[in-house]
Amino acid sequence: MSCKVCKFGGTSMASAITVNQVFNIIESDKDRKYIVVSAPGKRDKNDIKVTDMLYKAFDEAQETGRCDNAFGKIRERFRALVDDLKLDFDLNEMLDSIEKQINTSTTPDYAASRGEYLSARIFAIKTGYKFIDAQDLIKFDSRGMLDSEITNDNVKRVLEGVDRAVIPGFYGIDVDGNIKTFSRGGSDVTGAIIARGVGADLYENWTDVNGFMKADPRIVENPKIIDELTYKELRELSYMGANVLHPESIFPVRQAGIPINIKNTFNPSHKGTMIVEDYNPDNSVITGIAGKKDFSVLLLEKSMMNSEIGFARKVLSVLEHYGVSFEHVPSGIDTMSFVIASSELEGKLENIINGIRRSVSIDKIIVYNDMALIATVGHGMARRKGTSATLFNALANAGVNIRMIDQGSSELNIIVGVDNSDYEKAIEAIYNGFEK
Ligand code: ASP
Repeated sequence: MSCKVCKFGGTSMASAITVNQVFNIIESDKDRKYIVVSAPGKRDKNDIKVTDMLYKAFDEAQETGRCDNAFGKIRERFRALVDDLKLDFDLNEMLDSIEKQINTSTTPDYAASRGEYLSARIFAIKTGYKFIDAQDLIKFDSRGMLDSEITNDNVKRVLEGVDRAVIPGFYGIDVDGNIKTFSRGGSDVTGAIIARGVGADLYENWTDVNGFMKADPRIVENPKIIDELTYKELRELSYMGANVLHPESIFPVRQAGIPINIKNTFNPSHKGTMIVEDYNPDNSVITGIAGKKDFSVLLLEKSMMNSEIGFARKVLSVLEHYGVSFEHVPSGIDTMSFVIASSELEGKLENIINGIRRSVSIDKIIVYNDMALIATVGHGMARRKGTSATLFNALANAGVNIRMIDQGSSELNIIVGVDNSDYEKAIEAIYNGFEK
C-alpha cells in the first residue's frame, strides 16, 4: 500500500457540502492517510474567509480589549458547519477558550491559526481519523524560520504509530512555545512538511481549479492545464507571479523526491498537474507564461564602460547599501541597465542615483518606469529551433514593442520587458503564438 498526504484548501473546507465532497475523495482511496486542512474559505464570491475574520477579531480585541463582535460571526460559521454536517460535537467550550485567548493575545498568529485548528477538529470527527495538532510537529527557530530538522523528526516520531490523521495547516510553535503561522496560504507548506516526514509517495494538493494553467485565466480565455511540470519550471512561474502553491512548499518535497499533484476537489476525476523533478517534454515547446507589472529600468551610460573593471560591482554595492534587489542586468558596450521592481525604489531613487554618481564616474543615468516583465518558461525550448522566432513574431504581429530581452543560459525561460499597457496583449499573443 502506498501513502498519500492530501492538503485541502479553503474552498474545499468552506461548507458542509464541500466538506462532504472532501470526505468522499478520501474514502475513495485508502492510500489517502494524512489529511492537512485549511480554514474554511469563501462559500461564494461575496463571502469572507474564516482566516480574514480571525485577523479582524484580533484587531477588534487590540482596539477595544474584546472581540465579541467579530468572534460572534466566527462562532456562527463553525456552529452552522457542525450542524449541517450533522456531527455530534459540542464546540462551545473550545470557542469560549479561543475567544478568551484572542482577547489577551499580543500577536495575531494565535487568532489566525484557529481557523485551521477548528477545521481539523471538525474533520477528524467527520472521518474518525486521529486529530494531531500541528503545534506538536512544526517548530520555528529563534529567527522565526522553520526548524526543518526538528520538525521532520517530530513528524516521523509522532505519526509513526498513527495510521490515519487529520492535521491543521498553516501554523506551528516558536521557541517560546507560542503559536506562529507561516505566511498566507501556508497550509501548502504544512502538507509538504508532513509528506516529507512520513515519506509519502505522493503529495496531493486539492484546490478549486483543474491544475496549474499555462497562462493567467484573467488574461487568456480558457488556458490549457499543464499536465506535468518540473520543480524548476514551477519556481520560475511562481516567482513571476503565477500562484497556485505557496513557494515554500516546494523545498520539503523536492528534497525527498516526492511529486506533487495539484487536483480539483470539484472535479476529482481530472488528472490535474503533476509537479516532478524531471520529465520528457511532450510536443509542447512551452510549459507556461507568467508575468508581473511595474518594473523600473536604471540605464547607466558611459563611454568606454566596457574597459572599466569593477564598474558593476561598485553600482551593485550602492543597491546593496539601500537594500534594493534587482531582477536583470542587460548590458551593452557602453551601457548597463538594472531592472528593478518599482516598489523597491520607492523613496530611495534619488539617494541611489546620487550614490551611483559618487561611486562611479558616469555620463548619463536615465530612469524608465512602467515596464512589465513576462517569462515564457519550458524545458522544451532548449531542444527546439525557432522558439524565440515564434515568441517575437507573435509580439510583433500584435504590435507590442519589446523593451528588453533576457534568455537564461539554461534555456528554461525567455524574459521580455514590455510597457505595462501592453502587458495583457503581450501575454495573449505569446499564448496564442505557441498554443494555437
Ligand atoms: N488559512 C490561511 C490563509 O487563508 C492559510 C491557508 O489557507 O493555507 O492564508
